[in-house]
Amino acid sequence: MGGFGFTEAQEMLRQEVRRFAQKELAPGALERCKMGPMELYEALPEIDKKIVDMGWTALNVPARYGGQQVDAVSLGIIFEESAKVDPYVETVGAMQATSTLLETLPEEVQDEWFPPLIKRERRHAFGFTEAAAGSDAASIVTKAVRDGDNYIISGEKFPIPFAMVADVASISVKTDPTAGFKGVSMFWVPMNLPGITRSHLPWMGNPNLVPSIAVFDEVRVPAKYREGEEGKGFYMILSTLDWLRVITAFTCLCRAQASLEEAIAWSQERIAFGQPISRYQGVSFLIAEHYTRVEAARLLCYRVLWLKDQGLPYMAECSMAKWYGVEVSIQAIKDCMVIIGHPAYSTEHPISQRLRDVVGFQMGDGTPQMQKLIISRMLLGK
Ligand SMILES: Cc1cc2nc3c(=O)[nH]c(=O)nc-3n(C[C@H](O)[C@H](O)[C@H](O)COP(=O)(O)OP(=O)(O)OC[C@H]3O[C@@H](n4cnc5c(N)ncnc54)[C@H](O)[C@@H]3O)c2cc1C
Repeated sequence: MGGFGFTEAQEMLRQEVRRFAQKELAPGALERCKMGPMELYEALPEIDKKIVDMGWTALNVPARYGGQQVDAVSLGIIFEESAKVDPYVETVGAMQATSTLLETLPEEVQDEWFPPLIKRERRHAFGFTEAAAGSDAASIVTKAVRDGDNYIISGEKFPIPFAMVADVASISVKTDPTAGFKGVSMFWVPMNLPGITRSHLPWMGNPNLVPSIAVFDEVRVPAKYREGEEGKGFYMILSTLDWLRVITAFTCLCRAQASLEEAIAWSQERIAFGQPISRYQGVSFLIAEHYTRVEAARLLCYRVLWLKDQGLPYMAECSMAKWYGVEVSIQAIKDCMVIIGHPAYSTEHPISQRLRDVVGFQMGDGTPQMQKLIISRMLLGK
């Protein structure tokens, strides 16, 4: 952004992504919205290939793998315009998080993994949550014990989206159980190593995340797969989550926007008591209020990305965007359901699926309470 608004180049990019999304993502998007995790997973590679061909999975990866550097606002534009048409296309957002983690590994490991990940021939999962440790991410019990040139990892990640289908997972472990958050390290774990078992988790929404559990039973992982230094894993989780939080807010707001557009169209057609329901202020004001909130939350997301581009701190703003974006989206989609009435309550209707999805995003990447904790700590100077 230059000043208050998008630059000409960013506006041109938006038009380009919009055209791409209408041509390549719109066909079948509504059908994909009704699919279960594995069926959806089978359907997505075709879409991913189109995104790979656009070069969007290579954005901001190191130049030696063909990476092209772009600003964070432009990334947000690509993500938003794609998610507006198909919210299940998470490819662009996910690859940024993967790239940041993979870049902490030795070059030989990067050489092995970057090319297939960019082409979406291999998949990555990110797991820091355990049965007894979610918000309190430093209290994990999964441990990694050094044994010569290897570490032996034992524990369980629950939930860990994508693990069922992932070729590799970045997971948090304790390398020093006595050191609190300074004892947390991250590992890049190829999922075909002996000792790993995975199972599917039945979630009420977000089938594209392929919700899973992964158990690590004395898995021998070469030390070269440690991400960065021992004891620095907690900071890596935080910085990865910062990016994912904005993406999560965008993906929810795109669902809210689509629902509002459907509710507007419906309200102009649906007749009750002799006139379109859009003529009743009880309906039209509701739409106006939600549209305003969604727009405000969207601008909050872009502000975070703009701060990132300026090299300014943005952690608290990330939490604002995440908490507010998800909250506003839930309320908007819920009211759109009421405006459309019982047809939108059908499990076949995209609005009911969107509501199930956004409710989950309250927890994904940190609960509302955790976001408020971060915001209040900044405001109160803690
Ligand atoms: C859609 C979705 C996607 C996800 N994606 C991932 C992923 O990619 N990788 C991954 O590892 N995990 C993922 N998760 C798990 C997610 O990170 C956790 O659900 C989240 O961190 C919260 O942990 P928890 O569910 O164990 O709740 P807990 O941490 O047990 O919290 C329970 C309740 O207590 C509240 N609470 C806890 N501590 C405090 C406090 N100090 N002050 C006030 N309230 C507090 C919480 O806000 C919450 O309401 C995902 C979950 C969902 C639903």
